[in-house]
Amino acid sequence: MQPSMFNVRVPLEDQNEVFLMNTFTDAQLIVSTDVAALLDELEHRDAAGWTSEERDAIGTLAEHGFIVESRDADRDNLQRFFHEVRESREQLRMTVLTTLQCNFACDYCIQGDHGDYNKHAAKMSLETATRVGDWAEQRLEALRPQSYVLTFFGGEPLLNLPVMYYLAERLWKVCDARGVRMLINIITNGLLLTPEIVDRLNAFGLNGIKITLDGDRDTHNKMRPLRGGQGTFDRIVHNVRQVAHKTRIAIGGNFDMETADSYPALLDFLKAQDFADKLSKVAFKPIIRERKEQPAPAVASPVKGSKFIALTAVSDKPLGGACMTSAGAAVSSTSGCDSCHMVDDQMAFLREETKKRGFPTIDGVHMGPCEIHRSHAHTISPDGSLYACPGFAGDATQSVGHIDGRQEPARSHAASRFEALSAWQECRDCSFIPVCAGGCTVAAYTELGSIDKPNCHKAAIQAGLVSLARQAAAERTATVN
Ligand code: SF4
Ligand code: SF4
Repeated sequence: MQPSMFNVRVPLEDQNEVFLMNTFTDAQLIVSTDVAALLDELEHRDAAGWTSEERDAIGTLAEHGFIVESRDADRDNLQRFFHEVRESREQLRMTVLTTLQCNFACDYCIQGDHGDYNKHAAKMSLETATRVGDWAEQRLEALRPQSYVLTFFGGEPLLNLPVMYYLAERLWKVCDARGVRMLINIITNGLLLTPEIVDRLNAFGLNGIKITLDGDRDTHNKMRPLRGGQGTFDRIVHNVRQVAHKTRIAIGGNFDMETADSYPALLDFLKAQDFADKLSKVAFKPIIRERKEQPAPAVASPVKGSKFIALTAVSDKPLGGACMTSAGAAVSSTSGCDSCHMVDDQMAFLREETKKRGFPTIDGVHMGPCEIHRSHAHTISPDGSLYACPGFAGDATQSVGHIDGRQEPARSHAASRFEALSAWQECRDCSFIPVCAGGCTVAAYTELGSIDKPNCHKAAIQAGLVSLARQAAAERTATVN
């Protein structure tokens, strides 16, 4: 028996207790420092010397995965976990880029309404949409998943409503006939959003809409203007107000060193709106233009305390899934996902500011494995090319196939590379592998030039863990009182 390599801990100094989490089982416990110390003593003490209280504690720790047979057992579990994630047939996910055109002219994005970009940017035709529908229907028939998630993204997806309506209606019927639950997500800049669009898609399983606000009013207007420089903030907020009672609205934002300070003002603004309690999630992520090395923090060591108390189970959340794929960032100048590119301090700061105002947000720990690790998650570009995730869409060299089934050596080669993706293997004994999976592959490709290297932001995950621990302790205290 030995402690699992996936154990992480945060000392709760005021309470002489320790928050323990196992990132593989997602078990979370608050224990006395004595119990935490048992984990360190496990391999050095003679089992015959354990007291009955200590045996009980060891039994509970083992039951929650904090104690395993061997390091090999941990490694086998990890391999099996990634295999199951990759092969899971429970859900079929498709992100459809209805167009690469965009009506915004954000300066951090090389796409959008700059120069003659929109003149040449691809837009899905109804004829291609018909073939996408055929392909999706075949996949649904072959896979028979429990649920089907169709995400519309771009460019700006609302610039191509006919394709959205066609696919939504057709695939709703296909799912309905097979008893598959269909969910539609839209990731949009919000400028063209109307109640009519929401009403129409609500009939086909609209699940939620993600809208990007890049800071407070002035900052957003500077960051996300129209081509002529006109601001877009007021119009977007107006549009959100019109639809917030009809569907779930998540707010995202892309910040950099100059704009991060404006986000608390945005949060205050949102909190004061009549639709504040309708927001399903508020989460911001940085725009990264160059890589910064993040030092790995020291692992906190347990402090021996005098009290030996019972273990408190904190939660039993499912693993994975913080990535609201392609969450509205510039696809080419940055990768397109909420769990990419964390500037650790600002991320932690803005997450705490968001929580302080009572908005639901990501916890900063449960980041992955994202959909690039799943065989049954596909991104389809306007011409029908397939990609492993939205962050690679538009880069033809990274296409892994095509909906028409054409066999081309370059796409087959790319498909093999993405199927074998396991950058986390380089993370060796890192305790966060099950919730991080080596970080964002798009960021690794952009910043390190390889999809096979980890993109490590361990400090950001550690900060999320500390926050999770404090929240668990506060909730426990509230329950006890
Ligand atoms: S690789 Fe990055 S952009 Fe792609 S799905 Fe994963 S986290 Fe999102
Ligand atoms: S990328 Fe960093 S934090 Fe993530 S699993 Fe690898 S070493 Fe751990």
